[in-house]
Amino acid sequence: MKLIKPLDIALIVTILCVTVCFFLFNMESKNSNLQAVVRENGTVIKTIDLATVSQPYTIDFGGDYHIAIMVDSDGVAITHSDCNDQICVHTGMLTYSGSCAVCLPARFSVELVDCDDNIDAVVG
Ligand SMILES: [Zn+2]
Repeated sequence: MKLIKPLDIALIVTILCVTVCFFLFNMESKNSNLQAVVRENGTVIKTIDLATVSQPYTIDFGGDYHIAIMVDSDGVAITHSDCNDQICVHTGMLTYSGSCAVCLPARFSVELVDCDDNIDAVVG
């Protein structure tokens, strides 16, 4: 009695291929090393490697506008500012490289960058 037919093997191989491809693709996207760059008056005051974030937390930057940001492993958001327009707060969570939230009145910005390219600069 033949339990496994050639067609079944082909099917299993196909499923395995798709699974492996899917897995690799997921690893690839996870590997993109996002870093939050916080600037005030155009000067970088803090950089956060999101890969090192295990639990969401809030950083209070204080200042005239009492800006606070929330940092998660998936992204970063400005959660509080005393500015009038609240554009920075409404920008919400940044999750993609290149996206940024800006608070013009406070001259404060948070940008997500892919730090794979400049990992040496981050470490050094
Ligand atoms: Zn603002």
